[in-house]
Amino acid sequence: MSEVPILKETTRSTGREALRNNITAAMALAGAVRTTLGPLGQDKLLIDDEGRTMVTNDGVTVLESAKVEHPVAKMLINASTTQDRIARDGTTSAVLLSAELLQNAWELVLQGVHPSAIARGYRRAEEACREHFAKLIVDATPERQRQAAVTSLAGKIHEAMQHHLAGLAYEAAQAVVEERTNGIVVDPTRVKILTQTGGAMTDSHLVTGLVLAKKRATDLMPKHLDSGKIALVDGGLERRELMSSVNVNLTKAGVLEEFRQQEKALLHEQVDHLAAMGVTLLACKEGIDDDVHRRLSDAGIQAYRRVARSDLDLLARGTNATLNHDISSLTERDLGVFISSRNERWNGVMHWIVETEEGGATFIAKGSTNETVGEVERCFADALGVACQLLEEPHLLPGGGATQIALARHLRRFAEQFPGREQLAIEAFADALEVIPRVLAQNAGLDPLDTLLQTVAKQTTAEGDEGHFIGMNVRTKVPANMVEEGVVEPLRITRQVLSGATEAALSVLRIDDVLWAKQDPTVPDMPETDDES
Ligand code: ADP
Ligand code: MG
Repeated sequence: MSEVPILKETTRSTGREALRNNITAAMALAGAVRTTLGPLGQDKLLIDDEGRTMVTNDGVTVLESAKVEHPVAKMLINASTTQDRIARDGTTSAVLLSAELLQNAWELVLQGVHPSAIARGYRRAEEACREHFAKLIVDATPERQRQAAVTSLAGKIHEAMQHHLAGLAYEAAQAVVEERTNGIVVDPTRVKILTQTGGAMTDSHLVTGLVLAKKRATDLMPKHLDSGKIALVDGGLERRELMSSVNVNLTKAGVLEEFRQQEKALLHEQVDHLAAMGVTLLACKEGIDDDVHRRLSDAGIQAYRRVARSDLDLLARGTNATLNHDISSLTERDLGVFISSRNERWNGVMHWIVETEEGGATFIAKGSTNETVGEVERCFADALGVACQLLEEPHLLPGGGATQIALARHLRRFAEQFPGREQLAIEAFADALEVIPRVLAQNAGLDPLDTLLQTVAKQTTAEGDEGHFIGMNVRTKVPANMVEEGVVEPLRITRQVLSGATEAALSVLRIDDVLWAKQDPTVPDMPETDDES
């Protein structure tokens, strides 16, 4: 290779052209998920490389499975993935909002506003929205928490299931509440999801404790245990591993047999060590040799082999045990406690159910086909995310576009304090927020502009403090008080949509800022003269 090939095949675009290309990519991405927003959003059929299909209405699922090459589109997808990780919802909204912020920024650029002035205005606007949230929130009563979980499932699964799953998610969240010194922590990953194909979706249910589709190493072991100590082993109870660490020199006949006996004795010692500490329940990541089955049973130990690392982690959190690789170095301090451990046969498959003091729950997702089970699983996870965050931060905002319209109205008044370009940027931010109610209306078959104007008018003229609760209920197709209609969403989701979308839009604007600065820093603030179309 005689020359560096990196830039050879690359079309380089700088300055305004680059910004325009990036914004086009962002708009294209938003276009791909636009029709999925809201309860009346349409589904997408995704087909992967191997021909597997999936029907979904979830923005992030669509984006993550799309083969996107454009770096800016990838940045927005990352923002949407972050949204999913932090808030478990609001992914479509985040992409729509960031694309709209960029589109509006582009219009300002065309009028001669420098991207850095836009960035300043956008930041200020976002801050002003955060401060204004305090005036819009309502308390998350248990009833409203359930409604919020239902809202998060709007359009994703049929209505009876929305209520069923929302109720289960609410219950599951209660089972994993942890009180820490700095407040309540509710971690949805502590709820295990077990999928079972066969049966009706509505048979999906919640079991207290951790359920694993596993049977004990041998039937000789006790089937049911009441409270006791558990040991978790990140390795196994088998000879193969010992073999690799011991060097034997076979010179005499019988030595091999003697060596085997020694190994067996070592394994037995490990079992005796567990028994001496009072362990009655054992879970290993790797195997357990047949040789030790009887010894374990005789010691009254219920043992499980080949337990997945993720399940061992869940067990560790539920029982307060510490994972250890080597049984002989286990001490009493590494052990955990459980309330009960039992084996039950469900539909011909043995299941192991452990209940612990620290709570924990397992959701059994059911459905007639793999696709429906997957759908139930994803919907439950979404509702669970909402339920968990509401226990941590019990504040809700009205949905159906009400919050975005109220924020936009507030921003337009707020913008008046700032002269010149920053004011334009704050107003552009306010306009961008309205993409949510516009698209919700559009997906419901309503005229986006008329609906928006109607809702804004109703907010403005509403009596008392409740104007900002008015949004468009797309089910009844009339503007109404969203809190009364039960269309509510966690504050955390909406706040994260706003900050995530702003960050993503700003980083796209910044990309160009740098290239621009190199080219000619005075160009962007000059009135439009060149070839933009
Ligand atoms: P996202 O991926 O952004 O969460 P969704 O498809 O879940 O997208 O749609 C969420 C939006 O739908 C929110 O703005 C929410 O307020 C709105 N929404 C949910 N139910 C209703 C309803 N009955 N009427 C109007 N809007 C609704
Ligand atoms: Mg949603």
